[in-house]
Amino acid sequence: MEIVHISAECYPVAKVGGLADVVGALPKYLTKLGHLTKVVVPGYDTKFSRENEFVSVHQGLLKLGWFQFSYTVFKEKTNKLGFELYLIAIPELFDRPNVYSYEDDTERFTAFQVAFLNWITETNQIPDIIHCHDHHTGLIPFMMSHAPIYQHLNRVPTLLTIHNGQYQGWFGFDKLHYLPKVSSSRLGFLEWNGMINPLASAIKCAWKVTTVSPSYLDELSEKANGLENLLRFERPKCLGILNGIDSEVWNPDTDEMLENKYSIKNAKVGKAKNKKFLCEQFNLDPSKPLFTFIGRLVDEKGADLLPEICSIALNRNPNEINILILGSGDPYVEHGLTQLTHFYGGNYNTYIGYNENLAHKIYAGADYLLMPSRVEPCGLNQLYALRYGTIPIVRRTGGLKDTVLDIGDGGFGICHDHTSVYDVNHSITRAIDLFNDTKQFDSIRKTIMQIDHSWDKVAQEYVEVYQSLKNN
Ligand code: ADP
Repeated sequence: MEIVHISAECYPVAKVGGLADVVGALPKYLTKLGHLTKVVVPGYDTKFSRENEFVSVHQGLLKLGWFQFSYTVFKEKTNKLGFELYLIAIPELFDRPNVYSYEDDTERFTAFQVAFLNWITETNQIPDIIHCHDHHTGLIPFMMSHAPIYQHLNRVPTLLTIHNGQYQGWFGFDKLHYLPKVSSSRLGFLEWNGMINPLASAIKCAWKVTTVSPSYLDELSEKANGLENLLRFERPKCLGILNGIDSEVWNPDTDEMLENKYSIKNAKVGKAKNKKFLCEQFNLDPSKPLFTFIGRLVDEKGADLLPEICSIALNRNPNEINILILGSGDPYVEHGLTQLTHFYGGNYNTYIGYNENLAHKIYAGADYLLMPSRVEPCGLNQLYALRYGTIPIVRRTGGLKDTVLDIGDGGFGICHDHTSVYDVNHSITRAIDLFNDTKQFDSIRKTIMQIDHSWDKVAQEYVEVYQSLKNN
């Protein structure tokens, strides 16, 4: 089969969060299974696009209302990522360093989607499956099904994966003219609550919808930022498939970003060396348990509670624990976390910012990873933590519920039910007790490193979905 993934992010080309990790990995594993797999992302001005070789494969024009843009499709020369990578460069809109958060994001991502459809139309390269990711590519199924100029694409199956239903890409009908002409009878396929809603539109128009974990699909019927009824209605075509991880990138035995590589055989010594290195760098005490957090500092992740969680834990257990936080986001939270360094230096530290390299070092050197998320569609951090022998402490929600079983229930993690300061601190107390029980702690570490969440297994589930759509 020929499968095209279209997305705003793809690791290592452009990454903000888990979306990039999935789009940078699943296609590689689909290719290994023998499918011609292409990934199409916007041509941002990132390190990857500057430092790698590309060839121009197509040039064209696109209309966005009264504006006209030229675009160029570049292909990465060597397929070094394990799949065919295409960047659609639209200089006025994407020649910038960041992926999101520009005022003209509506124009940027609408133009990207139109350019993609124009490109495959003009070159007559019609794939077997078009796999869209999140709202940034959510208008594609609508345009393919309802815009007369793309009529020739309306028999190509489309799949939408919802990585995060909180963000939907809404914009007003005053921008309807950005889209190709459609009959007014079709506008209902674009609309939700009086707005053009790309995510809602994709849920309506895509042939199939997946979420990144089964529990998240269940939760969306109750809590989906306004789309609950739509998701309940469309439930028969929805399916939850748990994300995998790229076990080649995330492997402590081969990870070039680590000071000391280790495997399950020498996990205890290997992790201790990585912990020592990390503790030296951040002025922490390597003999004490190291609790960490990695992620976007937003309410969804429970990050607003982190300053209070940390100060209570550090007061209750003076000089008995270390906490290290890596993240960026809400400036108020960033400030609160930075303030704590003045009070708890020697046991607490934080790195405000995005640092891929440090994230790897933390997964390797930490004893525990905190994930007090309010919403967690899948969560990759806990999967990386497991692979690196770091015990996850999670709130039972979404993908966390599907992947972490509490030690008390015969599992290997520490779970709590609420995103609250009380629940997380109770879990921290349990974790300190576990840390002091060296035998059980070491045994759990070995158990979690053996859990297989690699895409090798999961990619096949997507193939079955593609196949069923193709045979339709
Ligand atoms: P989300 O996509 O909601 O942010 P996920 O758990 O699905 O959450 O994926 C998060 C990914 O982003 C992981 O690869 C994690 O290591 C990485 N990440 C998040 N914040 C940072 C940061 N500040 N520095 C480095 N990596 C980060």
